[in-house]
Amino acid sequence: GSQPWRYRRSERLYGASLMGSVLFDRIALIGIGLIGSSIARDIKDAGLARDVVISTRSPETLKRAEELELGTAYTISAAEAVRDADLVIISVPVGASGSVAEQIAPNLKPGAIVTDVGSTKASVIAQMAPHMPDSVHFIPGHPLAGTEKSGPDAGFSGLFRDRWCIFTPLADTDPDALARLKAFWEQLGSRIDEMDAEHHDKVLAIVSHLPHIIAYNIVGTADDLGTVTESEVIKYSASGFRDFTRLAASDPTMWRDVCLHNKDAILEMLARFSEDLAYLQRAIRWGEGDKLFELFTRTRAIRRSIVEAGQDVDAPDFGRHTLDAKK
Ligand code: NAP
Repeated sequence: GSQPWRYRRSERLYGASLMGSVLFDRIALIGIGLIGSSIARDIKDAGLARDVVISTRSPETLKRAEELELGTAYTISAAEAVRDADLVIISVPVGASGSVAEQIAPNLKPGAIVTDVGSTKASVIAQMAPHMPDSVHFIPGHPLAGTEKSGPDAGFSGLFRDRWCIFTPLADTDPDALARLKAFWEQLGSRIDEMDAEHHDKVLAIVSHLPHIIAYNIVGTADDLGTVTESEVIKYSASGFRDFTRLAASDPTMWRDVCLHNKDAILEMLARFSEDLAYLQRAIRWGEGDKLFELFTRTRAIRRSIVEAGQDVDAPDFGRHTLDAKK
């Protein structure tokens, strides 16, 4: 044929080795960076689909996905990728979700589930829902798992194990479709939660977005400080600074989009943060040691409960001490 798009098929890689129960015959992954490629690896490892069609906007990333054998078919066209797919997972920066939804809409299979992994939810819904045909189930989602790395090489299987995946279904969401999508994420090892999009955006503003913004800010400040040379910042970084640099190394495109698309909740939390910082500043200025001690005791207990909830390990440097171990 004279198809203008690139669509190469390999054998039905997973046909012979299906291990998990196949909830979806064909899955289309739009976006194959850290998150998309981690999903692809889990699907492949556990044999969760017969076909996995991969689409990403750049030929370089597509080629890399193919070299890594992350799917069974590869195409640059998101519209072509979703043809006949029973599940479509969109893993692109949140600012791009409207344009992806518009591209795929005409080719979506009736009855298909369309979901995403975006870090903000109200904005993704506002961008995508208007394009979604009535014949498909659009169910927004957000796996709370990741690293500061990006691209298809950064992904790994097991990323979602014991991590939360939050769904923010619309009012008219079909319960059966939601149950099937939840079952899929459970196969990746996720714990499932459900809430409305506005609530999600507020919660994430405090647990994820603010910490990243604070990290970007403190690393930027240290970089700007004339009195501290760059080499000193790096040389003495293990005293605390280093823990912020991990967050501040996160993908600039992703985080630009998060800031722009969760603006209200982030500004609300930042206002609150500045007030509390002013309180801390006052306590330091007036030598109010009891206030400082009380706060630092309270926060230490929060760290303990995170470890108890299995959301981190109680090792020095949050268990990320491989560098020191090598020394
Ligand atoms: P990533 O590694 O940077 O991969 C991004 C993917 O989206 C790539 O396939 C990229 O394609 C594609 N893309 C980038 N800009 C695009 C655009 N304008 N239009 C269409 N496609 C575009 O990102 P990620 O970390 O996987 O994040 C993907 C989504 O997951 C984001 O919405 C993010 O908020 C969310 N999320 C991230 C984390 C995390 O920790 N990283 C955790 C949970 C959720 P090319 O490479 O071909 O350009």
